[in-house]
Amino acid sequence: MARKEGRSRSVGTVIALTALMPAVALMPTTPSFAAEIPCSSTLSPSEIKSVGTSCQLASDTVVRVAEGLEVAVPEPGMVAIVQVLRTPGSTGPSAASVYRATDGQLALQIDETPALGSTATAGALKRILAKRAEPATKHPEPAGAAKTQSSGLAAVPAYCGSSYEYNFSGGVWQQSVFPWTYNSRSQPASDALQAIKYGFQFITDTSSACGTYYTFAFADYRGSTTRYTWGTRDNGNVVGWAGFDPDILGATYSWVDGSGLRVEVDIAFNNRVTNWFTGLSGTVPAGRFDLISVATHEAGHGFGLAHYTGSSYPVMFPTLGTGVNKRVKRSGDLTGMGTLY
Ligand SMILES: [Zn+2]
Repeated sequence: MARKEGRSRSVGTVIALTALMPAVALMPTTPSFAAEIPCSSTLSPSEIKSVGTSCQLASDTVVRVAEGLEVAVPEPGMVAIVQVLRTPGSTGPSAASVYRATDGQLALQIDETPALGSTATAGALKRILAKRAEPATKHPEPAGAAKTQSSGLAAVPAYCGSSYEYNFSGGVWQQSVFPWTYNSRSQPASDALQAIKYGFQFITDTSSACGTYYTFAFADYRGSTTRYTWGTRDNGNVVGWAGFDPDILGATYSWVDGSGLRVEVDIAFNNRVTNWFTGLSGTVPAGRFDLISVATHEAGHGFGLAHYTGSSYPVMFPTLGTGVNKRVKRSGDLTGMGTLY
């Protein structure tokens, strides 16, 4: 069924919908939107293909990719990305990207699988996610800055993996700065913010025990907030706590505009996980999930790193178990952050 450009909707769709909701759908308000009815508040992946021609998207329409993995349909021209860190053995996708074209058509990508949606929207989604830092947003390198991993002075720990173990999820922050605020609502312990700050610092550090790769990435803490609109864009970058399935530790929601700039990132840790370890000790107690390690991982998403599944060395590996300290940026994480910023 062909669809006209602009604001008009296809006749075939109107007929199909009016058969279901004749009175409401045909109210003669304005000619162009007269036939539209709101989409249901939650869309499944199978509904994505027809969305945009069959119903009027609301600003809070949510795509439920899997149980506990949802992302709101973004504004036209924008990509919304959700990435989750799962516990080992957890099944289901760990990332999804939704693109909304200016004509309302949607495209959906789940993990690395080909996007659903039309060829045009899937192609546009791929192009936006592939955009990289431009010279305008990339700082010049300081003289003498080490751009390769240090060697010789100290042995590289066995757990570092290779420098090639990284992926990008799309978009970079202008001026390399991710400004964020914190909502302490339902936090598990009063020292949670301190742990999160350490994690954010670890992902932006130029050096780790696995080497050195210069980066200008900077997570700028701007104080506390009471906002918590997880999965929906509200023009504020909020880090805090939300309730997910127990096999999800944290989720990062990113919005990337058509030029490849990150315009908002929200990070939510799971308040239904009852065995967080929020302390600073490098020895994570058995049976506890290390908040600093999870924060390091989620901040990687916040800056534009995607999951890496080729080996389990990188911080950006999509699962994390209990009793594990994974705060040290591995070789691939160092290269990824240094390349982006
Ligand atoms: Zn992740």
